[in-house]
Amino acid sequence: MKNIIVTGGAGFIGSHLCEFLLKTGHRVICVDNLLTGSEDNIKDFYANALFKFIKHDITEPFYPDEAVAEIYNLACPASPIQYQKDAIHTIKTNTVGVANLLDLAKARGAKILQASTSEVYGEPLVSPQPETYRGNVNPIGPRACYDEGKRCAETLFFDYHRSYGLKIKVVRIFNTYGSRMSENDGRVVSNFIVQALRDNDITIYGDGLQTRSFCFIDDLVSGLVKMMNSNDELTGPVNLGNSAEFTIKQVAELIQKITGSKSKIVYRNLPIDDPTNRCPDISKAKEALGWQPAVPFLDGLVKTIEYFKTKI
Ligand code: NAD
Ligand code: UDP
Repeated sequence: MKNIIVTGGAGFIGSHLCEFLLKTGHRVICVDNLLTGSEDNIKDFYANALFKFIKHDITEPFYPDEAVAEIYNLACPASPIQYQKDAIHTIKTNTVGVANLLDLAKARGAKILQASTSEVYGEPLVSPQPETYRGNVNPIGPRACYDEGKRCAETLFFDYHRSYGLKIKVVRIFNTYGSRMSENDGRVVSNFIVQALRDNDITIYGDGLQTRSFCFIDDLVSGLVKMMNSNDELTGPVNLGNSAEFTIKQVAELIQKITGSKSKIVYRNLPIDDPTNRCPDISKAKEALGWQPAVPFLDGLVKTIEYFKTKI
């Protein structure tokens, strides 16, 4: 049994990670400011004596009473609409907040994993994107608080590793979906499902020919845990995602079909700097972690739609 901190543990990915770690017998301290997460996601864990929730913003230093073996840093809003609401707080979360957690890891001799993102590749000029690709990010655009924030977080991780020998793990997560995404989150899968189930218009931004590659939550959680448990030499970055690539128009049509919705597909303006494509090269994850996603998009969508049916 290890004492493990999950920051952002009340969010979509974080709550699934907390659940998995509890099921495998670990003590979990969930740290979250509830900005985009919700106690609803974690309320089922309160009865478990191994679970503790602390409401805290990582931009403030944090030193729990307990010993700490591992820290998963997932604290940061992930949806473009959410992370742009308070851009300055987003960038502080990814810089000041990350430095606070690295200081905690250093003080307690803990291993620490950063949930980085495919957004570090920006508008990618190569596809699929390998970890060696250095990206094409607009440093002054509306997405920069997130993209550049996450790039700086990676830099901080590697500087703490080089300066203090900290045990670090960096994963670059590609679009992930599943239960416990918030209905108002704004990301494409949750938006389209909620719109389809309510027979509202399904809103495609731009011409819908931009692509994304979608990973089901259970696959992602297993990748995160495998990365944390890998040998200390493997710092990353390692891409985690599903390399099956879809246009956004295909996603809309698929969800319309599965739900049998009466919704119409409508077209809206494309947000500034919205990447035209995203597809992970996961050779490194396969080779170094023996990990690859197992859940096809169609199956994951059916499960996610079942979840949203119980919520709306
Ligand atoms: P989410 O918005 O559901 O969860 C983020 C959680 O972090 C929320 O519970 C929120 O309240 C909390 N949080 C935000 N700022 C905080 C702060 N300053 N202090 C403490 N808690 C804070 O998003 P998610 O999809 O679960 O994403 C989790 C992590 O994974 C994020 O770091 C995100 O950047 C990364 N990621 C997610 C995806 C994806 O497709 N879901 C892709 C790439 C990277
Ligand atoms: N998108 C869309 N309609 C929506 C929400 C999103 O067409 O209601 C598009 C968005 O413009 C982007 C893609 O779907 O091209 C994925 O968006 P999301 O916000 O899920 O994640 P991103 O990969 O952009 O961070």
